Amino acid sequence: MDRQAPTSTDVEQTGAIEALSKELEATRRELAIFHLFALNMMIIHKTEDLFWFAAQNVVGRLGFPDCVIYQIDPDRRNLIQVAAIGEKNPERREIVNRLVIPVGQGITGWVAKNKKAVNIVDLQKDERFIHDLMDARSEICVPLLQAGEVVGVIDCEHDQPNHFGEEDMAMLSSLATLLSAQLLQCELMAEVKASQSELEIAKEEAERANQAKSDFLANMSHEIRTPLNGIVGCLGLLDDSKLDGEQSLFVETARRSSESLHALIDGLLDLSKIESGTLELEYSDFHPQAVVEEARELFGAEAAAEGVKFSIDASAVRGGVHGDPGRIRQVLFNLVSNAVKFTDQGAIAIKVESVTDRLLRFEVADTGPGIPNNRQSAIFDRFQQVDAARTREHGGVGLGLAISSELIRLMNGQIGLSSIVGEGSTFWFEVPVELAQTEIEANDRTPGHIPQLQGRVLLAEDSPTNAFVARNILEKTGLRVEHVANGLEALEAVRRRPYAAVLMDVSMPIMDGLEASRRIRSLDEAASSIPIIAMTAHALKADQSSCIDAGMNHYLTKPIVPERLYAVLAETLDMSSSQHDVLLDRNQIEQIWGNDVSTYHQVVEIFLEEARQSGQTIRDAFARQDLETIEVHAHSLKSAARNVGVTKLAQQAERLERAMVNRETNSQTKYLIAALSECLEISCLKLAAELTAGANTANPTAPGEGEAGED
Ligand code: ADP
Repeated sequence: MDRQAPTSTDVEQTGAIEALSKELEATRRELAIFHLFALNMMIIHKTEDLFWFAAQNVVGRLGFPDCVIYQIDPDRRNLIQVAAIGEKNPERREIVNRLVIPVGQGITGWVAKNKKAVNIVDLQKDERFIHDLMDARSEICVPLLQAGEVVGVIDCEHDQPNHFGEEDMAMLSSLATLLSAQLLQCELMAEVKASQSELEIAKEEAERANQAKSDFLANMSHEIRTPLNGIVGCLGLLDDSKLDGEQSLFVETARRSSESLHALIDGLLDLSKIESGTLELEYSDFHPQAVVEEARELFGAEAAAEGVKFSIDASAVRGGVHGDPGRIRQVLFNLVSNAVKFTDQGAIAIKVESVTDRLLRFEVADTGPGIPNNRQSAIFDRFQQVDAARTREHGGVGLGLAISSELIRLMNGQIGLSSIVGEGSTFWFEVPVELAQTEIEANDRTPGHIPQLQGRVLLAEDSPTNAFVARNILEKTGLRVEHVANGLEALEAVRRRPYAAVLMDVSMPIMDGLEASRRIRSLDEAASSIPIIAMTAHALKADQSSCIDAGMNHYLTKPIVPERLYAVLAETLDMSSSQHDVLLDRNQIEQIWGNDVSTYHQVVEIFLEEARQSGQTIRDAFARQDLETIEVHAHSLKSAARNVGVTKLAQQAERLERAMVNRETNSQTKYLIAALSECLEISCLKLAAELTAGANTANPTAPGEGEAGED
């Protein structure tokens, strides 16, 4: 094949191709540099680093021999050198003599002022040019703009005239746009960081203040509680002494005030504990039914005293669970207490159900005044009360629901209500639980449960410390405690007045507990059958049997465990009261009325009308502190009740009558009236059922049913 010499066209073409490919190569390089910049600027967050990166890795690599980047100062008067390459900055990242150029002066100053890029082909001919060391001949300068404002300039010089072309201008302008955008990003990030750390500092300060507040509250609560306990103790003593009607009203008022102060302090302490995160849940096995039973024990009588029907329903509970019974009880009692407080007539129904094995739902429905829709959500906030006048009447500060909702939140549950004004409210809550880890029965009391008891007990104990501890445990049940220091005093005391039980220490000076018990048992008065519970540090079996031999009924070892004492007391007091208290004593009915069923029914009808009226009269009289009227009505209720065979009611009426004669304290009277009202309600229901049954059968006291003992 012949090789032909290249023609001039060939040479031209080759030259053009070479030039093109050089250009292409240059463009590719430039693109690569911009690409690099775009990638890197994303991860550079400090403005100083960004300037240096732009100068060294972009301007330098693009082939500009010299470059200075300026940033405008905050008062916008001067341009300040922030990065540079070339002769003016031989040292990497170190500016030896930082250039400062007033805005408006020289080429850079002009660009900053006029926000326009310039390409000066011959500096010698430009009057704006200020000579410096380098004696440059051409210069290209572009502004850094953010939202139309100059934030800096990029300036490049060359010692030859006419050095920079349009492409240089385009490259530098693109760089300026990118750099400005990323500068803004950096500034925003710096601001966010600054405000973040400000926020953090503020948050820490707030937390510290909150902690201090909680500590203060906790300390204060303790400080207030101690003298308050003293006040309550003295009020108790005062209440025990003989007081006239007005005085006992004052004492009662003072006692009620201190009780609400106590409740308020407990509430505040709970809240501060929740807030500071120091309230810890205490998990144990319990039966949900037991919790609602306890609510009935505590509030049933009070509701009945107001003439409000009170019912509980635990039929849909699947069995024992593992959760915090104390806190669940606290929330439930709060809701029930509100229901009792705000409901004047109708009914209160408490329900607990297992929604699933692991979710309990409690409901407290009342026929009270209801809560307007627009107040329902705020009601769980602190110190919120719908009807201030009403709350004043019943006490309360508006913390109960706030605490309840915090506790439920802590247990990961939910709380809410539905209510219609004029019809009533239903408060509910749901709490997740685990399955019980042990066998739990519905009648196992929940841990920490304190039974509510009534009556007066005698505590015979020579050690003041032990006496103090025992009194404290006992008084929590509502029992009134009288203290003597030896067996002889105990013997004298039980002869003087009736007690529901005696708690007897065994080793005591003058006369020990064993001797005292023997002497009590040999009395020929009613007092001889009083239940005696031994309390002793002697834990041997032999000691136990000597106590039983001496006539004591129960035996407790010291130190006294409250739960154990409560269980024994509940059993003892229940036994002693149930011996005579039969709801409907058919023996007695037969003795009085024989076969004259129709007369009996007529009497029952009259009784039903009068007894309820009597109950109301007694409650009204108590409100007026008219003790005489209470005594008169209790007396007639007693005999009327006996006539129709409701002996438990007769017994309650007699207790109340005796309390009036003995000038018992107001709180005792109040309790007796509450118990009487409850018993009256149940007795009336029982009698009404008897009438209905009698209407269907010839003889209500059918043969074989005549035994006393249907309770
Ligand atoms: P307190 O009862 O101590 O005032 P709570 O936080 O328990 O505080 O209740 C806040 C308010 O909610 C009450 O004052 C009352 O106005 C309203 N409330 C609560 N329960 C009921 C209810 N069952 N029926 C009507 N109003 C209620």
